[in-house]
Amino acid sequence: MSQLLILRHAEVLVTMDAARREIADGAVVIDGPAIRWAGASADLPPKLLAAAGEVIDLHGHVLMPGLVNTHHHMYQSLTRVVPAAQDAELFDWLTNLYLLWARLTPEMIRVSTQTAMAELMLSGCTTSSDHLYLFPNGSRLDDSIEAASTMGMRFHAARGSMSVGRSAGGLPPDEVVEDDASILRDSERLIDRWHNPGRFAMQRVVLAPCSPFSVSRELMRDSAVLAREKGVSLHTHLAENDKDIAYSREKFGMTPAEYAQELGWVGPDVWHAHCVKLDEAGIALFGRTGTGVAHCPCSNMRLASGIAPIGAMRRAGVPVGLGVDGSASNDGAHMLGEARQAMLLARVGHGPAAMTAREALEIATLGGAKVLGRDDIGAIAPNMAADLVAFDLRGVGHAGAWHDPVAALVFCQPASVSLSVINGRVRVKGGELVDVELAPLLQDHRRLARTLFEAARHPHTAGA
Ligand SMILES: [Zn+2]
Repeated sequence: MSQLLILRHAEVLVTMDAARREIADGAVVIDGPAIRWAGASADLPPKLLAAAGEVIDLHGHVLMPGLVNTHHHMYQSLTRVVPAAQDAELFDWLTNLYLLWARLTPEMIRVSTQTAMAELMLSGCTTSSDHLYLFPNGSRLDDSIEAASTMGMRFHAARGSMSVGRSAGGLPPDEVVEDDASILRDSERLIDRWHNPGRFAMQRVVLAPCSPFSVSRELMRDSAVLAREKGVSLHTHLAENDKDIAYSREKFGMTPAEYAQELGWVGPDVWHAHCVKLDEAGIALFGRTGTGVAHCPCSNMRLASGIAPIGAMRRAGVPVGLGVDGSASNDGAHMLGEARQAMLLARVGHGPAAMTAREALEIATLGGAKVLGRDDIGAIAPNMAADLVAFDLRGVGHAGAWHDPVAALVFCQPASVSLSVINGRVRVKGGELVDVELAPLLQDHRRLARTLFEAARHPHTAGA
């Protein structure tokens, strides 16, 4: 037995276990990367307490499973609040940003990934996927995977791609697209180098052509074949708004869900971002096949895409997780804040009973785990991965919310985490990152964000 890490005296321990138990004065015993025991502090086995290397007291905190982010574009933290893209819908928004993103460098990918992860970790996230689909100026997915490993976050790196440029009828400019053969070759290389299929894996690779309007039919189909051959998941954007549906009907003569089905893009190893406009037949198909959805309420509101039918999806058995989406379409990547917006947006669309606070938290934990194809995260129980976060509810933002501290997490202002444990290691303590110096990271990020913007404004004079 290695030295144990014990968390105890949490005001409430939210387990998300099969019985959805919430335990007053809760405690958790962590042994290496795994949870060994969870229950009431009074019932802590003395033998385990005696073997503790560290005991952390969590009076006044809610302790819960780490939140799981199922959709992001971390490089976009360099292009927040860009004036030309502030008030546009999806297709115009993309067109305004593609030229900026074409100037990204490997250093920018690294620093933006670390910065986005720091933000996520401080908001309660312990596992994230990231969908990177442009590789200009020598950038590679390896840059983001290596950056992630310095942060200690559990990471599903999605190898995105775009292969249909403007001259071929797609949306992105030709300079940011790759050809199908090199995308598939690089995908295979990345899986062989980085993908860990094992329990408690910190790194997985996902194949993720960007969207039906930026890649070929053949690349969608061949990516699915390769993913199944290698046992990795598939991810893309689907049915995001009305224009997206119109494009699908015009180019392919079918709905996005029908297109996905035809190309092998349904099943428990597939998840699609947004699905705001998934129709009834699409919802039934996803439910039947266990195809997952990454719900991104802030992004959907910012781009005025609409209200995704999350209640109908869940009733049909569709696995639903939460995604903050890229920082250019949701400029505030706060996972607990995203759960709050999921609850509020569901109510705007479908009434006050459409989503409870606990349901929002379940989507943000268990839901995300299911969507990513994992049964080792999302709940606090023996033999689950030791990914836990604690929020201190003794501040002014939660004053008076003593009736129900768990619901307060979602109803009140989104708190930052006080403590975060990922794979058994303390990564945030006292509200601060333990292993990473934030100030120099942010300084680098500021410099690079300006460089990127200037490079795009003066493309012929910039060095890159
Ligand atoms: Zn996205």
